[in-house]
Amino acid sequence: MGRFRVRRWLWGGAGLLLIGWLVCLPRNLFKDTVYSTVVESAEGELLGARIAADGQWRFPPCDTVPERFATALVQFEDRQFWWHPGVNPVAMGRALVQNLRSGHVVSGGSTLTMQVIRLSRNKERTVTQKLIESILATRLELRCRKKTILAMYASHAPFGGNVVGLEAAAWRYFGRPASELSWAEAATLAVLPNAPSTLHLGKGREELLQKRNRLLKRLLEHGDIGADTYAAALEEPLPDAPLPLPALAPHYVERQEKGKRTRTTLRIELQKAVSAVTDRQSDELAKEGVADLAAVVIDNRTGEVVAYVGNASAYRDRPGVQVDIAASPRSTGSILKPFLFQAALQEGIILPHTLLPDIPVNLGGFAPQNFDRHFYGAVPANEALARSLNVPAVFLLRQYGVPKFHSLLQKAGLTTLTQTPDHYGLSLILGGGEGRLDEITAAYSQMAASACAPEAPRAHGGPSQLGRCAPGALYAHGKLAVWYTLDALKEVNRPDELDWRLIRSVRKAAWKTGTSYGFRDAWAVGMTPEYTIGVWAGNADGHGVPGLTGARTAGPVLFDILGLLPKTDSWFEEPEEGVSAKICTLSGMLATPDCPAEEMIIPKEGLQSDPCPYHKTGVFVLTPAMEWFYKPHHPEYTGARKATGTQVLEFIYPSSGTVLYLPRQLSGEVEGVVFRVAHHSADATVFWHLDQTYVGETRFIHELRLAPAPGKHTLTVVDGEGNSSSIVFTVAE
Ligand SMILES: [Zn+2]
Repeated sequence: MGRFRVRRWLWGGAGLLLIGWLVCLPRNLFKDTVYSTVVESAEGELLGARIAADGQWRFPPCDTVPERFATALVQFEDRQFWWHPGVNPVAMGRALVQNLRSGHVVSGGSTLTMQVIRLSRNKERTVTQKLIESILATRLELRCRKKTILAMYASHAPFGGNVVGLEAAAWRYFGRPASELSWAEAATLAVLPNAPSTLHLGKGREELLQKRNRLLKRLLEHGDIGADTYAAALEEPLPDAPLPLPALAPHYVERQEKGKRTRTTLRIELQKAVSAVTDRQSDELAKEGVADLAAVVIDNRTGEVVAYVGNASAYRDRPGVQVDIAASPRSTGSILKPFLFQAALQEGIILPHTLLPDIPVNLGGFAPQNFDRHFYGAVPANEALARSLNVPAVFLLRQYGVPKFHSLLQKAGLTTLTQTPDHYGLSLILGGGEGRLDEITAAYSQMAASACAPEAPRAHGGPSQLGRCAPGALYAHGKLAVWYTLDALKEVNRPDELDWRLIRSVRKAAWKTGTSYGFRDAWAVGMTPEYTIGVWAGNADGHGVPGLTGARTAGPVLFDILGLLPKTDSWFEEPEEGVSAKICTLSGMLATPDCPAEEMIIPKEGLQSDPCPYHKTGVFVLTPAMEWFYKPHHPEYTGARKATGTQVLEFIYPSSGTVLYLPRQLSGEVEGVVFRVAHHSADATVFWHLDQTYVGETRFIHELRLAPAPGKHTLTVVDGEGNSSSIVFTVAE
């Protein structure tokens, strides 16, 4: 073998070694490590955390290490850390000598870099392993900056019990972030990984204290801390039992990705304040049998959730408390009505004050009732929305179309309407479908955001204070309709359900309530230009509570939360869109030459809406059924007075298509039902015919008790002038 060949072999071997050294270190040292779920506020403060999958409190790694801990750690573990190449031969030699002298291992001589390698590999502590660790440590030094290596160590070092990593340790032992530790606390945590079992077991506390104090002394001598700081630090006691972590938004924490650190949009101070309100209100509601309460606050300008209470008093031991009610599908009651009003207005199906029928009706077996069980004959659409009347809403939905409304709600972000439109039918507007508080609040927020009118110059000429408003595609051409919707909802002096004495400070808001069938769900959603607040109250298990309503139960919580938000005088601005039109002052519809009229700005699609059908030769005449219910509430209404060409008599009960179940007396005899007709003329005589057979006549009050045989029937009424009306109905077996 020649000299050259030997040299070539040597070079080859050295090259292989170099390559081996270069590739020996895995790309991600802690690839298989699992971490805690850590959820932070928008400001980066800890909202809550969940233990890692392996039962350890191990926060996801940080990139940086707080100065005090870094200083204390390097001073205690590895004083040459900032200078050495991953191994420290001097320290190792010293350790070897010490170990040989004493006959057993008293010192590791490991650098912090080597300890990072050991933490990532979790092998036994043998001489061979230490050699491997040394080689890998030098490789790690080539790859990473010193600060990164230190951060890796801080994130994975054991701190006793199931506490791993500095961040988890700072919270568990001192109840605050690592960046806020005192020198004494930083020193305690710097010495702890060296013997992590001491603190956990509660034994060796004296030894731990001495170690800490020795380190503090070293820091003093090294000039890291002054004499005063040193003296004060010595006085600080060691921590006791581990502390619970913050639990500021427990249900929201559950919603975040597991095993990751997530910076949310929740604002910590607002979150605390909203939680305090819901906790207090929840205690009150519990006395009435209402166990669960949820609230969501959204910043309209960004669409971000800024406060989230999935279920109030989450720390109480009670059934249902774990349920995140804000994200659970619940019957929507009346809470979706504003979306129908806005859409019908935007598309020119109605105008803001269009009269909607409020009379008994039977639509394919669906006979809606108002909350108060009264009918009002005819009600302007905006008032029907403010008073949350059910019957006009059903008439409006029938006109708008269930499939279209169903699709609209899905576009607005409701993921819970998973059935076909047919499945819900017209009941969709009265709580026949389910919705989640978080999604419904977001849908309202989207609507409110589109009404901010950011481009409209303000009176004083400055830029809008409302900042960024981003009207979604849903409302791009419907701002005026949105504005009218908000205007209808800002009416707070409403006759329905609310006891205003319960509400401390009434702030200006556009708001809507909802109560589901059987008093199971109480909803209230309120909007200001800046924020949208959604509140739900009820029982997670679904049982109803008599007296529970959106206004009375959820309303006060809504206004308490509203009171927490920054107070501003801003209100939604009327957008500069729409057209001027002549509107009938009585029907709210496009005026005919017969109508008393006034100018109004309406969405331009409204020009396609129906003209007023109620003014006949100058007289305002409703249909007989509408009139029947309208008159008692409107003394000024004069009615037909021989107006020609109008319908003069109409059935009030039942409506055509109804299936009747005739009650029986105790004797078994069928009781019959009272049929009712309305006639425009007070003194008309009406002749009744059941299936072409005359059955009686009525005057003044047109009511007749009949007990037809089971099966299908036609009932016709005729007056003395030949006007008639018919219904078809079925009597059940
Ligand atoms: Zn009119």
